[in-house]
Amino acid sequence: MSVQEIVRMGHPVLRQLAAPYPTARIKTPEFTQLVQDLRDTLADSGGIGLAAPQINVSVQVAVIEITNPQTRYGEVETLPFSVFVNPVITVIDPEIAGYWEGCLSVPGMMGFVERPQHIRIDYIDDAGLKKSRELRGFLATVFQHEFDHLYGQLYVDKLKDPALFCFDEEYRKFHVEED
Ligand code: ZN
Repeated sequence: MSVQEIVRMGHPVLRQLAAPYPTARIKTPEFTQLVQDLRDTLADSGGIGLAAPQINVSVQVAVIEITNPQTRYGEVETLPFSVFVNPVITVIDPEIAGYWEGCLSVPGMMGFVERPQHIRIDYIDDAGLKKSRELRGFLATVFQHEFDHLYGQLYVDKLKDPALFCFDEEYRKFHVEED
């Protein structure tokens, strides 16, 4: 285990455009260690996604793992632990829908954000292979949230309304019905 410290909003690394990861270095010990650190830190946090800048490594690598169906959001498929290098998002259908989002770098807070709900992602996987997949609904939101970290953006930049930004406890008390 190599659980790393997750940096929080205010740390400048979260606002930098992360460097594209050199694909020739995929499968090197350096890359394997980075992925293991992301995996261990994500598992320790209980989150569903983590981007390298969140552990203060400014490269375009993110991991996502959805083990438990996110029943709060209806039927959402699970996703085995996956690594995304240099991902690019293309919006297929600009129609938006909103979800309450949280972020390991903004602990204790929730915010309501609307995003396109049908996207395609193009990326390199941890075997160095070019991959592409389409995502809809909550999964599309999860991927946009994670990949935004690689572009120096946070969900708080995209709040639908500042009034829909609150502490976890107040979210559960006053806003949970708005999902
Ligand atoms: Zn986040």
